[in-house]
Amino acid sequence: MVASKAAKARDPGLDVRIPKESCTDAKCPFHGHLKVRGYTMEGVVVSNKMQGTVVVQRTLLHYVPKYERYEKRKRRYLAHAPPCLKVAEGRRVRIAETRPLAKNVSFVVVENLGEGPLAIPEEEPR
Ligand SMILES: [Zn+2]
Repeated sequence: MVASKAAKARDPGLDVRIPKESCTDAKCPFHGHLKVRGYTMEGVVVSNKMQGTVVVQRTLLHYVPKYERYEKRKRRYLAHAPPCLKVAEGRRVRIAETRPLAKNVSFVVVENLGEGPLAIPEEEPR
């Protein structure tokens, strides 16, 4: 494809809003050639100090039967952030699995969910 197709955004096949802005990032699921498959999950951006990559933290509740209580568990994912989504620290985002984009990056941010607390889901059984 030629580089002059900046206007049209591609639908990555997920139930997400298409960003209003456009970008020229080849690793953008909307304006580049990146395909997504596998897991999608929500998390909070805890750092955007890297170039094009953000740290997304997901918190889960894990039930401990002995104490009949929940404990919080968290995991951090590195995710590629396309420039059209304007991902900032503290934002809730939805990330989707994709091919490995770097040594530790195999997710891409697909939706900016705004600020505010995240609903913490219970840990899914593995
Ligand atoms: Zn884009």
